[in-house]
Amino acid sequence: MSVYEIGLRLQGKPVLVVGGGSIAGRRVPRLLAAGARVLLVAPEATTTLSDYAAAGEIQWERREWRSGDGDDAWFVLAATDAPEVNAAVAAEAEARRTWCVRADDAAASDAWTLAHTEFDGVAVAVSASGDPRRAAAVRDAIAAGLRTGDIDAPRSRTVRPAGVALVGAGPGDADLITLRGLELLRQAEVVVSDRLAPQELLDMLAEDVEIVDAAKLPYGRHTTQEQINAVMVERALEGKFVVRLKGGDGFVFGRGAEELDACLAAGVPVEVVPGLSSSIAGPAAAGVPVTERGVVHDFTVATGHVPPGPQSKVNWTALGAGNGTIVLLMAVKNRAAIAAALIEGGRAPETPVRIVENATTKNQTVRECALADLGVTEAHHPSVIVIGDVAGRAREL
Ligand code: SAH
Repeated sequence: MSVYEIGLRLQGKPVLVVGGGSIAGRRVPRLLAAGARVLLVAPEATTTLSDYAAAGEIQWERREWRSGDGDDAWFVLAATDAPEVNAAVAAEAEARRTWCVRADDAAASDAWTLAHTEFDGVAVAVSASGDPRRAAAVRDAIAAGLRTGDIDAPRSRTVRPAGVALVGAGPGDADLITLRGLELLRQAEVVVSDRLAPQELLDMLAEDVEIVDAAKLPYGRHTTQEQINAVMVERALEGKFVVRLKGGDGFVFGRGAEELDACLAAGVPVEVVPGLSSSIAGPAAAGVPVTERGVVHDFTVATGHVPPGPQSKVNWTALGAGNGTIVLLMAVKNRAAIAAALIEGGRAPETPVRIVENATTKNQTVRECALADLGVTEAHHPSVIVIGDVAGRAREL
């Protein structure tokens, strides 16, 4: 069984979808992404599909299919759970010379939906002589290759992005960067990287990509941050596409604001790609949800790099008086003083604490103690310290 693969450009074209179940639910988002005008005909629909209808993204006729429904359609998907209805939809489409996919019966279907993946502007559709499992497995292998860069080729037509992208690399595990972040990283000509950004992400860059290690910049008369800003802006003004890669999310104690300002001040185009912050991902990786219904309704993320006292901008007394979850970053050194201030503010000395070191990496270590013992409990950089009832409810992962 051989098929002829083509790419349908459905922008603005009517497409008929019959049936509102899980198959339609999976296919409609991609039809919409291709710009199709979707008419859904089904007496019932999944929540997602009815949400699309409510938002006006698709048109939903809430009834059984009728002859003529596909009169305007360029393409038809017959995805009801009644084979005789799918057969009737497909027969009418065939009579009108309209391509129709029958979701229930590949052998009786004029067209097939192929296993599909898309990354960084490359779309791949796979068929395997009518063996959908094999097609999906090959598709998965190709998707992995595209993400790691093992499969790629230089672009000849599309323009590279310009300026600077401030990319959050996630908490530590290289797999926890966003797809957008990875896409931009793969196109970078210069990468300005942080100590906490996963090394594996740098290892996969091509030889000719310039990697600037922010930790190794010469201070000279300027601070490292000024040096970082200067390098980013200079390279971008030379016409190179620069990715500033930072651990976690760049706007959570990452000085992303200053970098953004430096780019804006220099007139350099800048894109912000959020990352998964260790403040939420760290506790999660240790089985601690930072909020839990019926247990705690707020969480605060604070930096502990300045000890409680006149220099600190954190109201430790108020944090101690509250009952929400407290997440501390950069607090290893000052943890004893912080614990004391929280207890002084009213937090119970026995409040549970989890210290999550090297969260999400293969070296992750979790320690537990009571708030009163935080100062004498072993802790090393980098650690996220999570304090509150949720810490005592950590799930075994
Ligand atoms: N922008 C980062 C935080 C930068 S501040 C983010 O959103 O995650 C640096 C602090 O983050 C470290 O001192 C530590 O407290 C925390 N941190 C970052 N990565 C971590 C990891 N993998 N495990 C534990 N803590 C981490």
